[in-house]
Amino acid sequence: MKEELLHFIWNSGTLMKRNLQTHSGEPLHIVNSGTLNTDAGPDFFNAKIKIGTTLWAGNIEIHLKSSDWKNHKHHTDKKYNNVILHVVYHHDAEVCYENGKPIPVLELRNIIPPLMLRKYKQLQLNQNVIACENLFIIPKEPLLTNWLNRLLVERLEDKCEHINELLIQNNNNWEETFYTITARYFGMKINAQPFEWLAQNLPITVLSKHKNSLLQIEALVFGVAGFLEEPHSDNYIALMKREFDFMKSKYALEPLDKSIWKFARTRPANFPTPRLAQFAMLIYKSSHLFSRVLEAKDLPSIKNLYKIPVNEKLNSSLLHSQQSKIKNTEFGDTATELLLINSVIPLMFLYGKKLSLDDLCEKSLSLFEILAPENNAVTRFWKKLNVPVNSSFDSQALLQLKNNYCARLNCLNCIIGKEILIKNE
Ligand code: SF4
Repeated sequence: MKEELLHFIWNSGTLMKRNLQTHSGEPLHIVNSGTLNTDAGPDFFNAKIKIGTTLWAGNIEIHLKSSDWKNHKHHTDKKYNNVILHVVYHHDAEVCYENGKPIPVLELRNIIPPLMLRKYKQLQLNQNVIACENLFIIPKEPLLTNWLNRLLVERLEDKCEHINELLIQNNNNWEETFYTITARYFGMKINAQPFEWLAQNLPITVLSKHKNSLLQIEALVFGVAGFLEEPHSDNYIALMKREFDFMKSKYALEPLDKSIWKFARTRPANFPTPRLAQFAMLIYKSSHLFSRVLEAKDLPSIKNLYKIPVNEKLNSSLLHSQQSKIKNTEFGDTATELLLINSVIPLMFLYGKKLSLDDLCEKSLSLFEILAPENNAVTRFWKKLNVPVNSSFDSQALLQLKNNYCARLNCLNCIIGKEILIKNE
């Protein structure tokens, strides 16, 4: 038995429907279970209960055993003077107010519905991919949509926290931050960190000085990435190297060590070199990209900004010099959508929040509703359970559910868990 289950039962509303009695035998009716307090002090504030014919308003404290009141030193803490009911699993000791009067007690030991307890244990001990797989139910509307909405906002806020750290590092420069998180995305999971280091070692201010020359942008990107340190027989790469050698000393650039880039355990299309070529082309094509994204009026206009052509010269050179195993393809629609979901929209949301631009926050959230869902193991799993996964709004929310609730057995704070536990109790 965990105290968090007692919190859940008190908060779930199921006790309000019951004819209860205090431990001393007086009729007890819960009018309002109050608000959960996550800080120091009693567990629920502003509850209302009726004991006999008297209506009481105040706080609720919950423990596994009554004796925990003294063990936790509440008898010497003024914050607990306004507790109107002590809710315990097992009443093993009398607890009194300062004036010696006993605090009313509700003992849950014989009240908790046995089916709820069985299902709770099943959730805690389950070894399935998600604990509730065998008990799974889809909450009715609008419960499901409201829950997914909350999860999506939580996921966005988690992402925004990371972006905000970058923003602080970049002295509140939004374009520079946008550039860094875009770089991270181009690295996919496997080369995200090297791409971030690349962005840190190659300031956007240097790139913007060469925005009219694709060759120089490519030279800067491949040079700082560490791919132009040795002589090359390929004409185009040799040309890039010449350009880079000059700019390296001009801007005091520090190339990364080439060995940080991972080629193993990734599909050739995601090798760092074709990705670097696409990244260089995006920079060449789109100066002030962040401002242009913010100004774009709809999803097609945003996607248009990411239509990145291929530089055939660089492509064939990478193939010949064995730095790529396949001919580089365009930055496709799926790749663009993933970039929007993971980097662009969270940054737009954060920008909207920081500048109190409610319309922009709304626009960011509504983009999730029209972007297709990701197709990965997590989304396929939820689909198998018949959960509708119709847009990236659903898929992002369900990713958050899987990572932050299911993986941590946080079922008591999940609407699905709540529905499972109170069903038929
Ligand atoms: S957190 Fe919710 S969805 Fe996940 S296992 Fe628990 S009850 Fe099921």
